[in-house]
Amino acid sequence: MNETTRSNASQSFVATERELGPGFFATREVAFVRGAGALLFDAEGRRYVDCGAAYGVASLGYAHPALVEALTRQARQLGSCTPVFANDQRARYLAELREVLPAGLERMFLCNSGTEAIEAALKFARLTTGRPGVVACMRGFHGRTLGALSATWDRKYREPFAPLVPGFVHVPYDDLEALRAALTGDVGAVIVEVVQGEGGVRPGSAEFLRGAEELCRERGALFVLDEVQTGFCRTGKLFALEHHGLAPDLLCLAKGIAGGFPMGAVALGARVAALPLGSHGSTFGGSPLACAVARATLRTILEEDLAARVADTGAWLFERLRPLERIERVREIRGLGLLVGIELRERSAPFIERLLERGVVALAAGPTVLRLLPPLVITRDELEEAVTAVEEVLA
Ligand code: PLP
Repeated sequence: MNETTRSNASQSFVATERELGPGFFATREVAFVRGAGALLFDAEGRRYVDCGAAYGVASLGYAHPALVEALTRQARQLGSCTPVFANDQRARYLAELREVLPAGLERMFLCNSGTEAIEAALKFARLTTGRPGVVACMRGFHGRTLGALSATWDRKYREPFAPLVPGFVHVPYDDLEALRAALTGDVGAVIVEVVQGEGGVRPGSAEFLRGAEELCRERGALFVLDEVQTGFCRTGKLFALEHHGLAPDLLCLAKGIAGGFPMGAVALGARVAALPLGSHGSTFGGSPLACAVARATLRTILEEDLAARVADTGAWLFERLRPLERIERVREIRGLGLLVGIELRERSAPFIERLLERGVVALAAGPTVLRLLPPLVITRDELEEAVTAVEEVLA
């Protein structure tokens, strides 16, 4: 293949998606066709160090042998099975997930994405409490379906679709007094992230998160934790709630749960009412395929002690990044584990583009934050390569 036909391959995929896609994705100039571990390869065979993990879903990187094996084996066995009938993979996954969840979360609803998990949690909270109010946080992101979007804060996502679900209010994140004031008698749920991801990589304080949980108990609202981005070792613990000893009534999970296969889950605590027959459902949710891959993901996470590895690699990464705070355009570096935000004094998008040109995939988190969200299996050498590039484009 000569240079011209090579570059035409990528360009033509990009052009086709721009022409035939829905038009609302800010599509970039690269077409990825293959991945291995934390590396991605474009249609021209160029190698990239991935610090995006497809927005956190590719927790075990790409083409992980355990996932490939589980997926192909289950595809030959039984791909689909409605939850109306029991299934070996689903039953085993429910039991295995229950085993690693914090005490008190006894039942699980399996679905297909983060926004579906949030949507379900909001419905379960309303069914339980009979109260329509929901308190969420400024800069919070919970998804884009109408219920989840009502909890999401950013006006640019919300306003075009108003009116949204009534009863949602947003208080400043990490401000317990504001939460106390907003938690009136008609509030059935408080929904928070342990670390705000899309909103700029902002870890919440133990005082705020524990205080929010206590206030919910006091006032009869359910405490909903959105661990869609932080769950499954992203922050150096299996669940980020472990950093603060939190005990949510509803725990929402997705992204890394099945190593890249679409899946979500809500874990339900004892304060959640028995859910009446037919009150919720999902055609695809909890398919044997998804459950088989989720089982392989969880097994790999536990066998390889990925939580400890992420804690270690994350600590190293922060040390490595710390000197970058001396660069004039860098305002602050924040994060937990392998969820890292470099806040700039200017827009982050041009730097993210320059990184892509240098073979590093990074993400934004709001207008001024450059986010690193690599596959959890990334090696130090790969991270070093990425950080060197970050240093060079920022300096
Ligand atoms: N909640 C959080 C914290 C998220 O980061 C996201 C997605 O980025 C969602 C919910 C929505 O998940 P999904 O895109 O799978 O619907």
